[in-house]
Amino acid sequence: MYSESGLGKSTLINSLFLTDLYSKDYPGPSQRIKKTVQVEQSKVLIKEGGVQLTLTIVDTPGFGDAVDNSNCWQPVINYIDSKCEDFLNAESRVNRRSMPDNRVHCCLYFIAPSGHGLKPLDIEFMKRLHDKVNVIPLIAKADTLTPEECQLFKKQIMKEIQEHKIKIYEFPDTEDDEDNKLIRKIKEKMPLAVVGSNVVIEVNGKKVRGRQYPWGVAEVENGEHCDFTVLRNMLIRTHMQDLKDVTNNVHYENYRSKKLAAVTCNGVDTSKTKGQLTKSPLAQMEEERREHVMKMKKMEAEMEQVFEMKVKEKKQKLKDSEAELERRHEQMKRNLEAQYKELEEKRRVFEEEKANWEAQQRILEQTMEKNKKKGKIF
Ligand code: GDP
Repeated sequence: MYSESGLGKSTLINSLFLTDLYSKDYPGPSQRIKKTVQVEQSKVLIKEGGVQLTLTIVDTPGFGDAVDNSNCWQPVINYIDSKCEDFLNAESRVNRRSMPDNRVHCCLYFIAPSGHGLKPLDIEFMKRLHDKVNVIPLIAKADTLTPEECQLFKKQIMKEIQEHKIKIYEFPDTEDDEDNKLIRKIKEKMPLAVVGSNVVIEVNGKKVRGRQYPWGVAEVENGEHCDFTVLRNMLIRTHMQDLKDVTNNVHYENYRSKKLAAVTCNGVDTSKTKGQLTKSPLAQMEEERREHVMKMKKMEAEMEQVFEMKVKEKKQKLKDSEAELERRHEQMKRNLEAQYKELEEKRRVFEEEKANWEAQQRILEQTMEKNKKKGKIF
């Protein structure tokens, strides 16, 4: 339950479940000296149609007490998220037999009976919460409005809810015509106008919960006076299961996929990313897979480029050394040829000298022969 302080939340809780949740020793939040935005929870055991059920009621002291109301919805969001987290943790445990469901199935939002419309803070608050919990708007202290004023106020609020695209709890259509008729009737009454009281008054010999005024009694459970009975019936009889189903299938699923997306995104969930991710885990995984493939392809292309460069370099080096070898080979060849030529020349000179010498030798021998014959002795 949420509203600005003093709109009668605590009183309505008492009226709704006919329990004295708050007493002199334990007054409602607005009567306590220290006002905080602390969320408080209490359990009540109610018997409905022979079935006993435990209902957890969460009461918040409400905004409006602080000078700065920015983020006044945060403690409520934190509370809802923490209950989802508890459930998620229990769900992932192996032994699921004793799995308590303490998730918040419904948030009754009290609108001040100003007769004008929603306050900016009302709009902001409901928008912050409508993806996390079933929001049911209520007109508080409806006995302060005349029936006509109340009708006009309801119309105005619904118009603003539509204009601001606030998603309040939607009553489901059923196959049963009778049920549909009932649902249509409830829908027409939205937002439900409520009156709460902790006092029992005698009216025409009957004891009823009501508020005594000099001109009469505003009866809490009288359909002519307010929509209290409609609210009570839908909460604990006709729509309790649907509130639970929508919580599980829509709001909890929202929470879970955001949480899982945050985990797959960063490995660990950090409070910064909490609630910011809107992708489903599958979509997130698919995107990561694609990113990974792209990365691998890029790396492959880079490696190929490096490899090609290295091959080119090696080829160039081989070419260079081949050319160098050839150059050296040519040089050596040229040197050898020069040496060969030189030797040839030397040989020719030597052959010439030899021929000359032999010729001289022959001449000398011939002269000696001639002289011998002549008998000359040397
Ligand atoms: P809370 O701060 O929202 O919990 O408000 P309380 O339940 O403590 O009520 C604040 C004051 O409003 C008390 O004086 C109640 O008697 C009074 N109050 C509660 N419900 C109604 C109601 O339906 N109509 C009117 N006129 N007064 C109410």
